[in-house]
Amino acid sequence: MKLLHVDQALKQYFGYDTFRPGQKDVVEAVLEQQDMLVLMPTGGGKSLTYQLPALLLPGLTIVVSPLIALMQDQVSRLQANGIEATFVNSSLSYEEGARRERAAMSGQIKLLYVAPERLLKPSFLTFLEHVKKTVGLSLLAVDEAHCVSEWGHDFRPEYRQIGTLRNRFPDLPILALTATATERVRRDILEQLKLRQPIIHIASFNRPNLSYEVRKKHKGSYAELVQILRQKQGESVIIYCLSRSGVEKLSADLQADGIDNLPYHAGLSPRVRSENQERFIRDDVPVLVATIAFGMGIAKPDVRAVIHYDLPKNLEGYYQESGRAGRDGEPADCILFFNYGDRMRAEYFITQKENEQQQIIALNQLQQVIQYSESTQCRRRLLLSYFSEELPEGNCNNCDNCTRSIETEDRTEDARKFLTCVYQTRERFGLNHIIDIIRGANTQKIRDYHHNQLTTYGCGKERSRDEWMAIGHALLQQHFLTERRDNYPTYHLNSNAVKLLKGQAEFYMEVEARPTYSMPATA
Ligand code: ADP
Ligand code: ZN
Repeated sequence: MKLLHVDQALKQYFGYDTFRPGQKDVVEAVLEQQDMLVLMPTGGGKSLTYQLPALLLPGLTIVVSPLIALMQDQVSRLQANGIEATFVNSSLSYEEGARRERAAMSGQIKLLYVAPERLLKPSFLTFLEHVKKTVGLSLLAVDEAHCVSEWGHDFRPEYRQIGTLRNRFPDLPILALTATATERVRRDILEQLKLRQPIIHIASFNRPNLSYEVRKKHKGSYAELVQILRQKQGESVIIYCLSRSGVEKLSADLQADGIDNLPYHAGLSPRVRSENQERFIRDDVPVLVATIAFGMGIAKPDVRAVIHYDLPKNLEGYYQESGRAGRDGEPADCILFFNYGDRMRAEYFITQKENEQQQIIALNQLQQVIQYSESTQCRRRLLLSYFSEELPEGNCNNCDNCTRSIETEDRTEDARKFLTCVYQTRERFGLNHIIDIIRGANTQKIRDYHHNQLTTYGCGKERSRDEWMAIGHALLQQHFLTERRDNYPTYHLNSNAVKLLKGQAEFYMEVEARPTYSMPATA
């Protein structure tokens, strides 16, 4: 009966001729009352997978959504299509909320959007009981389901409670949807929402039209950025910075260098923010300099580059933010500027968090970003591996590591010096101190520990601090050293290190060379 009509319903209610990949499978399973977890990248068309069933199923569909703005936006779009949808959240007066609930009970509403904190209020539960007995409850759709997980990038404690609804309404099918879920988050969603024999639908997260690149951040990076923006003159570009002050400064600097742009961050008034956003979307101004406050639910199809001028907090976030480029399927660039200083700054911010569990999670996530940035492997493969998606072996041909021919050189001697020094200092010190010893620095700490008497003291004077730091990081990256964290990080020899020290392994590092963009002539 109804299943025959999904194609017609798609056309009739939404005006689309065909389903996007995966949509129909999900819709059909939902119509059969299956619990489901749907993973689709942003823009993949998740909303339709509950909106369409909601119209075909007899009762009311409840949609849990975390952001009031998104809720309002979706509901107005549905209403514009003549679909009976509404929302209840804290932005409404008590009377208005009650009026909408009554409309739902009398069957005038097919889709009711609700904020998670409202869902478990006793009054709302009573309302749901009532709906169940009258028009019936068809489906509970949980949008942005990764919010249940502390391991996701957007944990919301209220989401944790949603699972209790399962006990209260055991027959109500649950459809969980998200664009971001690592293996760990996926498990959390299944457990927390108590999904029953769920079908897990995973769409590919690969975005072949996006090219990925990481650049070392240094004094010349601003000039590189300007160069990139000049090459993309007139095209839409988003630049992400970590802090509001970072946004303000970069925005002003670019303006002074003749690059028309607007800032966007949570410190601006709502009016200015929405005005800047509008002007960017309307192509009044090509460049938007923003914190990650920008972007949730924004779909501008023709963004030609997303540039991270500071380190992102985690790879899921990076995937989301960079994924705002090239929604139209045309080529677009995702460029990340990376340096060790940013890493230190990010770690400092993390240690300011009070909760130890959150610190561990945040450091772990940061570590993944660093691995992505320092890796010499295909960036696309790395990025997708965090969504447990495997790319076929071979070259993606659209990331810096795949398109650049990497030249490496034998640095076994340097590695040996480094590891020997770690050994001689009994694996109890951080990278800075080890490098001080190798470079023969005369610090108080070195004098206190008599480290100037070690045979490795001053053995690597000829190389700069930065070079030794790069060696240290490469040793970590290639698993010749293991980092451990207690109060501060210490570095430990592992079986690879032992092999290297015994002459049974070699250590290669990339030769520094990457002027893809030459430095612009000074104006
Ligand atoms: P998501 O929630 O996965 O980020 P949305 O549900 O917001 O994605 O859908 C992204 C865009 O794709 C929306 O503008 C939507 O109208 C459009 N869309 C969804 N399904 C289809 C379809 N079958 N055909 C054409 N456009 C679609
Ligand atoms: Zn690649």
